[in-house]
Amino acid sequence: RAKSQQRAGHFYFSRSMGVEIRERVRMMHALRTGFAKGELFVVYQPQMDLVARCPVGAEALLRWQTADGTYISPDRFIPIAEYSGLIIDIGEWVLRSACHELVRLREAGHRQFTMSVNVSQVQFRHPYFLDMLRSALEETGAPPEFVELEITESMAMEEPDLLIKMLAQIKHTGVSIAIDDFGTGFSSLSYLQRLQVDRLKIDRAFVTEITHSARGSSIAEMVIQLGRNLGLSVIAEGVEDERQAEILQSLGCPLAQGFLFARPMATTALYEWLNDEALPRPA
Ligand code: C2E
Ligand code: MG
Ligand code: MG
Ligand code: MG
Repeated sequence: RAKSQQRAGHFYFSRSMGVEIRERVRMMHALRTGFAKGELFVVYQPQMDLVARCPVGAEALLRWQTADGTYISPDRFIPIAEYSGLIIDIGEWVLRSACHELVRLREAGHRQFTMSVNVSQVQFRHPYFLDMLRSALEETGAPPEFVELEITESMAMEEPDLLIKMLAQIKHTGVSIAIDDFGTGFSSLSYLQRLQVDRLKIDRAFVTEITHSARGSSIAEMVIQLGRNLGLSVIAEGVEDERQAEILQSLGCPLAQGFLFARPMATTALYEWLNDEALPRPA
């Protein structure tokens, strides 16, 4: 229907589109004031060594709880933060918070712990991204070799040349790069080989499939093999049950993250979890 309207040389906003736009604008204002008022916070989900079953790092994940107590999912508000440009300030704040937390964890004795931070393509394209990254590292004192940035595979697809250049420059700062949601973006293998990345994150959809059918594990298996051949680290995300963990382990997947091990947690809960006597320690 939109097509025929466009063909006629006009584009009419339907009533529902108007509602959608108003809702987006409303949420954008709420996000801006919410960020200023401290309604955003960062939670941390542990990442595990699958063989030793011990924590080796964490992923920082953004949360928004509005004044009336409702949680809004990042899948809903991140696109609005991107669309409005708010992601530049919010993303810098997440990175600094995560770096700061990494330093605290190291001071508490977790000296081999890595910290992963999601980065939006809007941040990545921003002219000051590298300066921002360098000063966040410097001012928090976070050791770059324990910081990882997660970019999505779909983002890797968009501007290959820009991305290749950016990744090389990021490499110079010492932080590493993971491709998030890997397997969902159909990037070519030859392109992947040209990217200076360190880790592939197997998307949750493929982890879920593992136990669903005989062929269900084929994509996870392929990513694990690809990582091995290219010398990249591999982590499975969204591991929810022991069967999935066992199959991944038997396929040679070294790392995993998911509700089976731990949910994303606020810092106090993270420290409690890390200090649990029952938890194996890294060698
Ligand atoms: P993502 O980076 O792929 O993060 C993984 C998502 O899976 C998180 O959702 C996490 O809570 C969830 N998850 C982890 N383990 C399990 C599991 O076992 N089962 C299930 N069902 N889910 C699991 P979350 O926190 O809602 O974040 C959604 C997405 O929002 C993230 O996907 C990421 O793309 C984006 N996001 C979150 N925080 C940030 C941020 O600080 N910056 C940017 N740019 N994006 C962010
Ligand atoms: Mg991620
Ligand atoms: Mg993911
Ligand atoms: Mg995702």
